[in-house]
Amino acid sequence: MILIDDQLTKRENAHIDIEDRGYQFGDGIYEVFRVYNGKVFRMQDHLDRFQRSADEIGLQLPYGLDRLQSFLEQLIETNGLSEGNVYLQASRGVAPRSHPFPEESRSVLVAYTIEGERPLEYIRNGIRTITEADIRWLRCDIKSLNLLGAVLAKQKAKEHGCQEAILHRDGTVTEGSSTNVFLVKDGQLITHPANNLILHGITRLVVLELAEELGIPVKEETFTLEDLRKADEVFITGTTVEISPVVQIDDYHVGDGKPGPVVHRLQEAFEKQI
Ligand code: PMP
Repeated sequence: MILIDDQLTKRENAHIDIEDRGYQFGDGIYEVFRVYNGKVFRMQDHLDRFQRSADEIGLQLPYGLDRLQSFLEQLIETNGLSEGNVYLQASRGVAPRSHPFPEESRSVLVAYTIEGERPLEYIRNGIRTITEADIRWLRCDIKSLNLLGAVLAKQKAKEHGCQEAILHRDGTVTEGSSTNVFLVKDGQLITHPANNLILHGITRLVVLELAEELGIPVKEETFTLEDLRKADEVFITGTTVEISPVVQIDDYHVGDGKPGPVVHRLQEAFEKQI
């Protein structure tokens, strides 16, 4: 079953109008939740970010977060989802095609579940990455449906046999195409500040909390491609990839080409939370 507005229904019964603004303009927002053992990890953080994204683009959600949460829980239970993801999106609704917000429209909400195991191969052995210019807009803090910048970067990574593209603006590393990026230098974590140039990742937040608990110092500061090259360890974070070590960037290995000790400590602490 899937959720459309406030109805749980079969996928084949759901219809998207050809003038849905999400479809025509990418005029909408989304969230991806991770389900462990039938339970959503950091549900409230994801719901709050969904609301914030909606507010930032002046999109009125059709109902409140409490109701949304119970619909998502119902969806997970109905589908018997134990391990996997939930995709949720809201578009600004259906109206004759015209750029400004329609006078009258009701946002359209869709959610569905995707079964899937944790990507243990990436988590344990690490991922390979390329670096790529960040050509996205200047409100990357909004989880908007406009993902073409991310799509093009990820495609290029794939064509190079890599799993992620690390994005930079004039040599300053922002984030991955669908992940946040951390480096470790002399025992300290560094990651881009949570401003308009990156998505304020929930997993990023979890890592900042875990680092504090573990007594690992953290700086939320910008760093360059050159800093990345000199880093002892590099890792990415995201709801689906969790904390995944980066073992290769373009044509060089990070550290000795194997996941390092700091990422291991964080991964262990993360495992306890899930
Ligand atoms: N940055 C971007 C651009 C993303 O798309 C994602 C995935 N949602 C992230 C970072 C990681 O965020 P989170 O940890 O909340 O999944």
